[in-house]
Amino acid sequence: MTDLDLTRELCAFIEKSPTAFHTVASISAYLDEAGFRRLNENDSWSVAPGDACYVIRNNSSIIAFKAGADIPADGARFQMAVSHTDSPMLKVKHNPEMDGPQETLRIDVETYGGMIDATWLDRPLGIAGRVMVRTADGRVKSRLVASDRDVALIPNVAIHQMRETNKGRELNRQVDLAPIFSAGLLGRGAFDAMIAELAGTDPASILGKELFLYNRMPPHVWGWADEFVSAQRLDDHQCAFASLKAFIAAQNPSCITVFGCFDNEEVGSGTKQGAHSTFLRDTLVRVNAALGGTDEDYLRALARSFLVSCDNSHAIHPNHPELYDGENCGRLNGGVIIKESANQKYTTDAFSRAVFTAVCEDAGVPYQTFANRSDSPGGFTLGNISNTQVSVHAVDVGLAQLAMHSSFETAGAADAAHLLRALEAFYGAEIAIEGADAFTVKLATQL
Ligand code: ZN
Repeated sequence: MTDLDLTRELCAFIEKSPTAFHTVASISAYLDEAGFRRLNENDSWSVAPGDACYVIRNNSSIIAFKAGADIPADGARFQMAVSHTDSPMLKVKHNPEMDGPQETLRIDVETYGGMIDATWLDRPLGIAGRVMVRTADGRVKSRLVASDRDVALIPNVAIHQMRETNKGRELNRQVDLAPIFSAGLLGRGAFDAMIAELAGTDPASILGKELFLYNRMPPHVWGWADEFVSAQRLDDHQCAFASLKAFIAAQNPSCITVFGCFDNEEVGSGTKQGAHSTFLRDTLVRVNAALGGTDEDYLRALARSFLVSCDNSHAIHPNHPELYDGENCGRLNGGVIIKESANQKYTTDAFSRAVFTAVCEDAGVPYQTFANRSDSPGGFTLGNISNTQVSVHAVDVGLAQLAMHSSFETAGAADAAHLLRALEAFYGAEIAIEGADAFTVKLATQL
C-alpha cells in the first residue's frame, strides 16, 4: 500500500466516524476483521498468551491488546499507543428546537471542545450520535444514528446587513451558532421525529440522546502534487487510524501490546471513559491477572513499560510563522513530531525522547520536534493525564496539521504513513528499560 493509499483509507475511516461512538464502531470493525475477540467489562475475563482482544467503555472509548505468545515468566511489559476519539463539534441540547422568526425552526446547540466557531458557518451539516431506545423486549438499547445527508446549516449574515463583518466579528454561541433546520415546512417535533426515524423507532421510545452536528464535506487528498489531506476530525483520527493499523500489523511475542483510543480529550478527559479515568488501569490490571500475574508482577511490568501518546500537532502556518518557535516547529509531511513542554503538558523527557528517537532512527522514519512559543501556553493532550492513572515512561508525539479545531482541518498526505511505520516498529520492538538509567531497543527486524 502506498502512502497515499493509506491516507485515502484514512479518509474513508473518517467519513464513517462522525462521532466518538461511530469512531469506536469503526475501530471495532477493523479489530473484528483482524480476528480480535471482544471482552465485556462486566464479565470475567480469560486471556491466554497469544490472545488478541478488545474492550469498550461507554461505546466511545476502546482499548485493544495482544498478549504475546512468549512473554518471559519474570518480565512482562506493556508497549502502548493512545489517541482520542472525540473532536470539537456542535452538540444538540435535549430539547432540540428553537422557534425562529417567520416560521423558521432552529436547532439548540452548544459547543463541545475548543472549536474555531467561524468554520462552522455556511456548511451543510449532518447529524449523528447515539440514542437510547426502549425496545419491545423491555430493554432500553443504545443505537447509533447518522443522517448521511445534510440537515442543518448555520448561515452567515449578509455583508449588506453587517458591513463591519470583515473587520472581525465575535460570534455569540447562543445566537450566532444556532443552525437553521427548517424554513417553514417542518413544525415543532420534527427534529425528534427525524431522529426516531433514523433510529428505526418512534419519538416516545427514545429515552436519551447524545447528538452532534458534523461537517459532511468529503475528506480528500488534494494538491497538484497530492501533498495535502483535508477532513473533519483529522485531530485525532489521523493518529488513531495510523496507530490502529500499526498495532494490528505488528507482531511481538515478548510483551503485551496495547492500543487505546479515548473519548473526551477535547473537554479535559475527566469522564468515566476519558484518559483520566481508570479505564486503562482497570484493563491492564485485569489482563495481568488473567495471564496469571500478581499485583507485584503488574507494578514490575509498568516499570518496564512504555506509552506513546499520539495527538496531532501544529505545522508551521505559511502566513503566520511568527506564531511559532522557529527552532522547534514542524512542517507537513516532515515526519512524526515529538512534542515537549517545560510545564509537562507533554510527557516527553530526555529518556522517553531517546526511546522514541531510537525507534524512529532504526526504522528509518523521519521525525521532527515541536515546542510552543514561550509566550504561549499551548494546548493539552491525554498522555500526562493518562500517566496519573498508569504511570509509565511516556512520550508525546503527533502529526503536523493546519487549522486545528476547524470544522475542516488540513494535514500532510504522507504523514499517516510516517506514524504507521514508527509505531509498527515500536510495537514490534524489544524495549528493555532499566529504570531511568538505561534502555536498549531492538526492532523486530534486528532480532
Ligand atoms: Zn487532539
